[in-house]
Amino acid sequence: KEELNIIQGALELRTKTVEDVLTPLNDCFMLASDAVLDFNTMSEIMQSGYTRIPVYENERSSIVDILFVKDLAFVDPDDCTPLKTITQFYKHPMHCVFNDTKLDTMLEEFKKGKSHLAIVQRVNNEGEGDPFYEVMGIITLEDVIEEIIKSE
Ligand code: ATP
Ligand code: ATP
Repeated sequence: KEELNIIQGALELRTKTVEDVLTPLNDCFMLASDAVLDFNTMSEIMQSGYTRIPVYENERSSIVDILFVKDLAFVDPDDCTPLKTITQFYKHPMHCVFNDTKLDTMLEEFKKGKSHLAIVQRVNNEGEGDPFYEVMGIITLEDVIEEIIKSE
């Protein structure tokens, strides 16, 4: 029954981690920080359908900002505004979490915080060099809710 699935889903929030449900970095729609908000870029953003768009510097693993589509309300594509102008104006805080964060904790954080998107990172200590923080992907409130209400 559907109710049982939901109860089961809610119980599993204690054992599942953000790593289990994140959207991998490779699947993320993102923008380069040096992008220009011309007609093409703005069309791509609108066509992506996403509300929050990570902005990266140089490489996709280096997320430096989050663009909200609503930030574009007063942007005229004819002005070819640099994306940086917008991100520096709004300066939305970025929320980072570690890959082993449990989903119940994540849900609490989403409820407390203002943003419903977090960057998931892990400690990579596999190579020769010093361990470093590696971005794995993004998680949103929707991903957690989906885990609760999914029907098998
Ligand atoms: P909202 O529903 O608040 O308008 P949205 O539709 O942009 O936001 P969510 O509903 O939060 O996004 O998430 C839906 C799914 O899309 C989730 O799996 C989430 O991880 C994923 N997602 C969110 N933003 C992006 C993005 N920029 N690129 C790729 N996937 C994303
Ligand atoms: P360093 O000490 O190497 O100069 P730092 O003090 O800025 O760097 P940390 O405070 O360890 O390094 O944070 C590095 C990243 O990890 C930041 O993006 C931070 O938001 C994130 N971070 C730190 N602690 C946590 C935590 N408990 N949960 C989630 N993310 C965290």
